[in-house]
Amino acid sequence: CGIVAAVSDRNIVPILVQGLQRLEYRGYDSCGVAVHAGGGLRRARSTARVAELLQQVETEQIDGGTGIAHTRWATHGAPAVHNAHPHFSHGRGDEAGQRPGRIALVHNGIIENHDELRAGLQAKGYHFSSQTDTEVIAHLVDSLYEGDLFEAVQSALTRLHGAYAIAVFCKDEPHRVIGARAGSPLVMGVGQDGREHFLASDAMALAGVTDQIVYLEEGDLVDIQLGRYWLVDRRGDAVQRPVRTVQAHS
Ligand code: GLU
Repeated sequence: CGIVAAVSDRNIVPILVQGLQRLEYRGYDSCGVAVHAGGGLRRARSTARVAELLQQVETEQIDGGTGIAHTRWATHGAPAVHNAHPHFSHGRGDEAGQRPGRIALVHNGIIENHDELRAGLQAKGYHFSSQTDTEVIAHLVDSLYEGDLFEAVQSALTRLHGAYAIAVFCKDEPHRVIGARAGSPLVMGVGQDGREHFLASDAMALAGVTDQIVYLEEGDLVDIQLGRYWLVDRRGDAVQRPVRTVQAHS
């Protein structure tokens, strides 16, 4: 199971999917990718190999500069396309799932208090379309979103019990992905000219893309954008972490 995410000026889908292929050795039962495209969110998900996902994104012409991708090892909810990540939140009151997605999120790990959180979100009018523990995080972030994704994610994380690495982006902030880790690995990659930025569960997923890696520490929250990034620790204090040059392994 693994995560790859990016904020870039170029179409990032091939890099995201290649990254998933480099994480395939970990095992998975489904995979998916979501990007910001044409002012909205688009995604493709599959219970087949990552190679099939690649065909799907090519056929459906899914491309964009900001995106997140995932290989899933199911813990809550059967291996199935509707349970595959990325999960979207369409906002409250979207009974029929007709509204465009606003929040897109991938997660590795387990959220222990998902039942309680789901009940609270359902009472607020959120409609769930999967059996995963992960989908509660997407709706929780949506319910806390007031125009600043970083603040919404930071506040959502204080309500989660469990282990996670996440990557999340929002329809309304096209060049921004927020990542966080607590109990599951996540690294950040600095790309070409320091303009594009990446997240991945393992630096190996970014081999051939960048060797400039920041290893996030437990509880870190990272905000990647075009030409800048921002890191805070578990207490919410801004921190600097060293950018290391990793040996390329193929
Ligand atoms: N608990 C989540 C799920 O079952 C994430 C599993 C994973 O780490 O891939 O969807």
